Amino acid sequence: MSVVNLREEARKLEEELSGLLGRPVRVPVVEVFVRRCGCRGIVLYVKGLTLDDIEVLGELLSDALSRLGDGCPVAELRRIGPEVRSLMLLEACDEHPPDEDPSLLPLR
Ligand SMILES: [Zn+2]
Repeated sequence: MSVVNLREEARKLEEELSGLLGRPVRVPVVEVFVRRCGCRGIVLYVKGLTLDDIEVLGELLSDALSRLGDGCPVAELRRIGPEVRSLMLLEACDEHPPDEDPSLLPLR
């Protein structure tokens, strides 16, 4: 996925989440990473999203992230307190399979 498309998809995600929650949710930064081991993914930094929102949104969020993730099986939520700081779409290498971490959100 090109950088331009990522920015566009992040903007769509902002609109979708803001619409569903009825208040602004921002995705100010999107980062793509590749580790030497082969793990790769996308980190979406978010503002205005809480853990409660994640529960309320449920599959709607999984679906939205699946479109962005392009084959990534899971999204990892990084949070500080009740606030979600980032969503990481991770396609893990064989050495680092995702475990049963409760912060992982299964995607389709
Ligand atoms: Zn790895």
